[in-house]
Amino acid sequence: MKVVFPSLSENERFARIAVSGIVSLADPKIDELADIKTAVSEAVTNSIVHGYPETVGKIELTVRLYEDSTVYIKVSDKGCGIEDVQQAMLPLFTTRPDEDRAGLGFAVMESFMDKIKVTSKVGRGTTVVMHKRITPKERK
Ligand code: ATP
Ligand code: MG
Repeated sequence: MKVVFPSLSENERFARIAVSGIVSLADPKIDELADIKTAVSEAVTNSIVHGYPETVGKIELTVRLYEDSTVYIKVSDKGCGIEDVQQAMLPLFTTRPDEDRAGLGFAVMESFMDKIKVTSKVGRGTTVVMHKRITPKERK
């Protein structure tokens, strides 16, 4: 599935619902689904608040569900980009401490998903790719 939506804060909820729609097809455990939704909302929130701080831009969300129950999620924006991705991913690092940001979004994505890869270019945008293998109910 691929959807493109504007970077409005209410669309964080849309992204959570859209990702649930696909992932639910694989009968995940409730906590696995919750973890995936949280990771997606962290990535989407970052695009909204950091990628397009002064404007409304496009966010693209891709969700793939593979036969082995691995979920692939890509969130990308064409916003301002990140200068130093390694530094940005450090727990507690934030460029917006004034706005109640904890600097934990990437840490949450890393702990809730099996794999995460962030690529970014200043002035071009940011892409977050995440994978998680879920446990279908019948295999428990
Ligand atoms: P929190 O997620 O806890 O509210 P945060 O968003 O600052 O705080 P992270 O989500 O870990 O923390 O992101 C760390 C930093 O990486 C951000 O402060 C921002 O500078 C940068 N960043 C993250 N995503 C993007 C993006 N899509 N575009 C531009 N900069 C980003
Ligand atoms: Mg964040």
